[in-house]
Amino acid sequence: MDFRTPAPSLDPSVVEGLSSALRGRLFRPGDAGYDESRKVFNAMIDRRPDVIVRPADAGDIRRAVTFARENDLPVSIKGGGHNVAGNAVGAQGLMLDCSGMKNVQVDAERRVAVAGAGALLADLDSATQAHGLATPLGVVSVTGIAGLTLGGGIGWLNGKHGLACDNVLAADIVTSDGRLLTASPDQHTDLYWAIRGGGGNFGVVTSFTYRLHPVGQVLAGALSFPAERTREVLGLYPEFAASCPDELSMSASLGCDTSGRPVFGVGICWSGGHDEAELALRPLRDLGPDVDVVVPADYGVWQSAHDGGFPSGRHHYWKSSFFTDLTAGAIDVLLQFAAEMPSAASGIGMQQLHGVAARVPPAATAFPHRRSQSELLILAQWAKPAETERHVGWARAFFEAMQPFAASGVYVNDLGQEGEERVRAAYGANYDRLAAVKAAYDPINLFRSNQNVRPTA
Ligand SMILES: Cc1cc2nc3c(=O)[nH]c(=O)nc-3n(C[C@H](O)[C@H](O)[C@H](O)COP(=O)(O)OP(=O)(O)OC[C@H]3O[C@@H](n4cnc5c(N)ncnc54)[C@H](O)[C@@H]3O)c2cc1C
Repeated sequence: MDFRTPAPSLDPSVVEGLSSALRGRLFRPGDAGYDESRKVFNAMIDRRPDVIVRPADAGDIRRAVTFARENDLPVSIKGGGHNVAGNAVGAQGLMLDCSGMKNVQVDAERRVAVAGAGALLADLDSATQAHGLATPLGVVSVTGIAGLTLGGGIGWLNGKHGLACDNVLAADIVTSDGRLLTASPDQHTDLYWAIRGGGGNFGVVTSFTYRLHPVGQVLAGALSFPAERTREVLGLYPEFAASCPDELSMSASLGCDTSGRPVFGVGICWSGGHDEAELALRPLRDLGPDVDVVVPADYGVWQSAHDGGFPSGRHHYWKSSFFTDLTAGAIDVLLQFAAEMPSAASGIGMQQLHGVAARVPPAATAFPHRRSQSELLILAQWAKPAETERHVGWARAFFEAMQPFAASGVYVNDLGQEGEERVRAAYGANYDRLAAVKAAYDPINLFRSNQNVRPTA
């Protein structure tokens, strides 16, 4: 099947056959539950798949995938529905809504958790934290574990324990031929490599098995600096970020004070001994913050501390790229666009990737961006559709102006609908190997509603 072929119209009796074979639910346009199921975090996304299946288990996923293949329907997959590009919902074809598969089981003795593909970060963190354990995830608790893990997963433990994908011990996955496979270090090893950074290209993951680490109380909070020193601190921060210990993971941001002056702040999470933290944070404190609130906190509580900044129902448009250094020219651009930020709900983030996450060899997993660096996130967020042009325009102009200073790579999980070249930049030197794995497990490109890798044998 050519992947551009439009979906044929579906015979209702054929759809009824699938519906009656499922343990979960099936929705067609007009059914109660259809609109709720196709809704995602980004209110800009309003797509109407031909059929939605909300599977109850891996058996349902096999049935739905087989049905889609036999009826020439492309498959889109919604884990937590948080991805801003909105690929979880296809404009046509069959959509799988994994929200009915949130079960998490923890084996505290072996330090392993098995989580269903519809679990949110909060579901997994809650189950593991009950045992004083955690696996590295992201920083907003309503994000889905599936999309986050398959693309990489950068969060507050990346320096100490790596990315979410680095902690995947195995995954069960339904491939385009309808088989349920286990991908692990000794089964389907090419698939195991590909799903750790290659996104949702290779099939429908039904569950992930994660390695857990003891994580109890952390030191967490934020420091921010006087507006008149923003330029100076922006110039000094990258050096501190590049040399800080693995126990410290940071996420910096640029906002504006009430007079509209750009202000630099750093969110931190220290997951080591509290005495050592004093020493590790001293160079940052020597930069002279005027707000310094860093306190002992339960890791599980800190994991949802940023949720308030991302309420549901808003419109989002993101642009992003990695950088290692901030030159004077780059800082000029950052300060200009921070001052022109169209609303206080929008943001400029700099999420740090370092330590264990940066030391994994770039070809060891499909996630290629392995060096100490930060990701610049231009996050436009607004409530009223009439404001779309202004917010999108700001983000695009900002991103263009940053191009001379950006690294070539981009994080696949923060990529929008930005074309083939940017998709290749997301997978970097691993693209060709991913294309070969895609050819082995999804030669017909059934799973193409994603940052797509074209199957190439
Ligand atoms: C507010 C916010 C905060 C974020 N914070 C972080 C962060 O701290 N760290 C970080 O790394 N990222 C972060 N992200 C990005 C996030 O990792 C991605 O948006 C991710 O794709 C979300 O996963 P999801 O399952 O919720 O997404 P969905 O939109 O449901 O899915 C995204 C894609 O993942 C694939 N997929 C989903 N489920 C499956 C499955 N079961 N099997 C196969 N493929 C599947 C599909 O290709 C789908 O199109 C954040 C995003 C938002 C909106």
